[in-house]
Amino acid sequence: ERRAVLIGLIGEGVTPSLTPPMHEREGARHGMPYVYRTIDLDPAEATPDAVEGLLASAQRLGFDGLNITHPIKQTILPLLDELSPAARRVGAVNTVVFDGGRRIGHNTDVTGFGQAFDEAIGAGPHGTVVLVGAGGAGAAVATALAERDIAELVIVDLDARRAGELASAVDAASRPSVRAAAPDALAAELAAADGVVNATPFGMAAHPGTAFDPALLEPRLWVADIVYRPVETALLAEAAARGCRVMPGLGMAMGQAADAFEIFTGETADRRAMLADLRDL
Ligand code: NAD
Repeated sequence: ERRAVLIGLIGEGVTPSLTPPMHEREGARHGMPYVYRTIDLDPAEATPDAVEGLLASAQRLGFDGLNITHPIKQTILPLLDELSPAARRVGAVNTVVFDGGRRIGHNTDVTGFGQAFDEAIGAGPHGTVVLVGAGGAGAAVATALAERDIAELVIVDLDARRAGELASAVDAASRPSVRAAAPDALAAELAAADGVVNATPFGMAAHPGTAFDPALLEPRLWVADIVYRPVETALLAEAAARGCRVMPGLGMAMGQAADAFEIFTGETADRRAMLADLRDL
């Protein structure tokens, strides 16, 4: 009889998340009793003290690990005993595994985007890549891209300070040259680029449309979106219509879950099946 795996997801508004059923279905394929519960955070609980209390409780209650999401991916850092290289580079954690009494932090947004990118876009060299959106998800994307064979990463955000801070944080650790650019320079930047990634919320039902004018997309560009609901965003539809190679956000969403599953269980996830599950959930 296999011991049950018990995992939680802590963050604000996590109740409708698709991550729990993705993990539980993958657990079932491995013949594991696998229980994945959401722990919806009150905004007042996003403090180091409250998060420490939740971590200690999860350990006492026998959880094997946790996924961590908005707004505590950084709050949690000082409460952990050890960080994976990806978590250290991006300065954020979305996965915690309890190893005996130790709390080890990982970041599978970084590894998940990286794997999805390698599969969809290939090994490179990738030349110049423009990243639009420098929030939490943009930071994970920038960290993953900086580990890949790109010559230059250009980061654009409506909030110039955010773009600048992310560019210097990534630059400090990375091989390609990284710089920030203003949104009104996007036409010139895209004209000189090889690929572009959308890491803004544009394309979701709540943020219809695109973050920038799709008329700027030439067929030579590959176009990645990390928004995954809907799977085909307005940006990807416009890009495909213009003959660009496209990478949908579903790969990152599946990859972060598959990588976390592997960290929690030590078993190899069936990524194809998890992607199919995510499509029909
Ligand atoms: P966020 O709010 O932290 O960051 C979004 C950033 O985009 C902000 O800095 C904002 O200023 C910038 N922005 C908005 N409109 C812009 C525009 N027109 N031009 C330039 N910059 C603009 O959000 P986040 O947590 O980083 O997530 C962004 C989106 O990524 C989410 O809405 C979600 O759909 C998607 N996401 C996908 C995955 C996945 O696994 N595929 C994971 C996380 C997030």
